[in-house]
Amino acid sequence: MKISKRAAGITASATLAVSAKAKQMKAQGLDVVSFGAGEPDFDTPAFIKDAAKQALDAGLTKYAPASGSPDLKKAVSEKLRRQNGLDYDPSQVVISCGGKHALYGAFQVLLDPGDEVLLPSPYWVSYPEQIKLAGGTVVELRGREDNDFKLSPDQILKAINQRTKILVLNSPNNPGGFAYTPAELKSIAQGLVDKDIIIFSDEIYENLTYGHQEFVSFATLADGLIDKTVTFNGLAKTYSMTGWRIGYAAGPQEIISAMGSLQSHETSNPVTFCMSAAITALQGDQTCVQQMRDEFAKRADHMFKRLNAIEGITCIKPTGAFYCFANVSACYDRLGVTGSLAFSDAVLDKANVALVPGVAFGWDTHVRLSFATSMEQIDKGLDRLEKLLA
Ligand code: GLU
Repeated sequence: MKISKRAAGITASATLAVSAKAKQMKAQGLDVVSFGAGEPDFDTPAFIKDAAKQALDAGLTKYAPASGSPDLKKAVSEKLRRQNGLDYDPSQVVISCGGKHALYGAFQVLLDPGDEVLLPSPYWVSYPEQIKLAGGTVVELRGREDNDFKLSPDQILKAINQRTKILVLNSPNNPGGFAYTPAELKSIAQGLVDKDIIIFSDEIYENLTYGHQEFVSFATLADGLIDKTVTFNGLAKTYSMTGWRIGYAAGPQEIISAMGSLQSHETSNPVTFCMSAAITALQGDQTCVQQMRDEFAKRADHMFKRLNAIEGITCIKPTGAFYCFANVSACYDRLGVTGSLAFSDAVLDKANVALVPGVAFGWDTHVRLSFATSMEQIDKGLDRLEKLLA
């Protein structure tokens, strides 16, 4: 049996693999601390679950339009206008089975062989694989660690050439845990106004910023940018709805329509009663969002301090998302390893702590730790790591 070159050319998601392995070890009775999954540990707020139950009782169990229900598109369009200052008509919104699916579809409908995608690094594990699956070429733009991994406008502009089709921006950032300031994004935006490229702004962590960090939607930052930006988001991180698989993209009509057509052959509609509950989530009381964010902020600070107190580990202060992206390369000798994969394996085997190897995000010197877990688990895991590396 020979699988296609296309499928053979990709690697399974490291983030999902680490979470699956940690869950499997737990099922075997092992006391594993998982810093793997980028998944809030909170339950989905009760009013959203109630809305799903009501939708089921009301019979919302049948097909809906493949590109999403008109009511949810309208709710998303209103949310983007109200919270983000973005003016997208409901017809410019596609609802997908999670943010990941929306990104996949967008790469599929835009890329032809030879097209280049500028990908800031560290990058979320699925971007390069999705780009390759769509026939595109990844052009990695490495951030500098001493600049919190952020790129300068100049670095981006210099990389643009005739073949450049898309620039991917993800702020707040997975795995880096940093966020660009509005001023930094604005200078990037100004440089791109007259460039013939499309910008993917992945804003899935928009509500998770800490300290004085402010969030701003990229497409608002310069005139005309909305016509060449596709804004991605979803409900997973904001409302702790990872398993519901409701994400969306908003952008130029042509791109969104093509994504809808693609979905009509690929998945059909996202789950009907989940879409109904998503409307309630977007339109309901947003206190839960703030409460979860406040808890993440405490954990961010705690994990950051504890990691930097371990000899050989350095980590930038998280200002967004829920990750510490720690440089652990000075500890490799201590564990007799030479890379992040072997380091993560050793930590899992010897200390029962699950980390995601940085190599999956383009940085073999680092590991990613998610603090979307309780303070108690954070302390337990870091006690173990500290002991192992002592
Ligand atoms: N985005 C999350 C993470 O990076 C969820 C897992 C995934 O889809 O990659 O851990």
